[in-house]
Amino acid sequence: MAKLGFIGLGIMGKPMAGHLLTAGNTLYAFDLVPEAVQELVKKGAIACSSNKEVAQNSDVVFIMVPDTPDVEAVLFDKDGVSEGIQAGSIVVDMSSISPVATKEFAKKLEAKGVKMLDAPVSGGQVGAEAATLTIMVGGDPDTFERIKPYFDLMGKNINRVGGNGDGQTCKVANQIIVALTIEAVGEALLFASKAGADVGKVREALLGGFAQSEILELHGERMIKRTFAPGFRICLHQKDLNLALQNARELGISLPGTATAAQLFNAVEAQGGKDLDHSAMVQALEMLASHEIGV
Ligand code: NAD
Repeated sequence: MAKLGFIGLGIMGKPMAGHLLTAGNTLYAFDLVPEAVQELVKKGAIACSSNKEVAQNSDVVFIMVPDTPDVEAVLFDKDGVSEGIQAGSIVVDMSSISPVATKEFAKKLEAKGVKMLDAPVSGGQVGAEAATLTIMVGGDPDTFERIKPYFDLMGKNINRVGGNGDGQTCKVANQIIVALTIEAVGEALLFASKAGADVGKVREALLGGFAQSEILELHGERMIKRTFAPGFRICLHQKDLNLALQNARELGISLPGTATAAQLFNAVEAQGGKDLDHSAMVQALEMLASHEIGV
């Protein structure tokens, strides 16, 4: 069994690391918040005092932190992974971050003889806990094949889409679809509610037709039942849409629907909702309509 490291044990990282541990791997773990590691330590993980210490002990280091600057800090800050890692080891970044920065990080690690995969995920907390995540991988094919058995412990739909950064590009595309679908579901349920229909019945009826989606099913229910505890926090989805819009500018293309969805998230943030589940985007639409679904 290889010695594995896991950095970032939040909503997603904790259950994902738990699956690697349950399969019998030795697991070295670190999080900026020491309590985040404790649950895994009870199950047999070894707590480290820095990202460097994780890297010193591991053949493969998995990372699951919020944003691009966090991954950069994990890798290259003082006491970071790059100070402890040995040539021949592999870094697998499963956070959702910038495709451009990912290519730079991979190059810097390559210079140390370390291969990197970007492997962002979709499927949320439920998918992380059930080990059914979709994993979108960028990196060379040999490294992908070596890491695939570990991906299999955390996910179901696992695809290498190309070289370094392409996994992150795929994830940004995913987040565009998710944000615009949340907006579509929110607008549809708001419309039905204001028109006086029973939104619960409307949702159920639509689940049988062409408009059905997991977002209508799960987030439509959240919108109706007003259950906006995360889940996937709005501030994380804002980060992903910012990546989409920045990259669109660099590519010279327009993403008008993405821009609107980003502004709706900004409006929820302005009302103090940046840590709500992303389905709470509907609250911005409700403000514009001066009408709340179900009321
Ligand atoms: P989270 O905030 O719950 O967890 C992140 C963890 O990283 C925290 O425990 C934090 O202390 C730790 N951390 C941050 N900087 C660190 C550092 N320098 N060193 C060590 N630890 C550090 O976030 P999450 O919801 O688990 O999301 C993680 C990533 O997964 C994000 O990029 C997010 O976009 C992506 N993602 C999340 C979901 C979801 O539903 N939550 C779904 C798909 C993808």
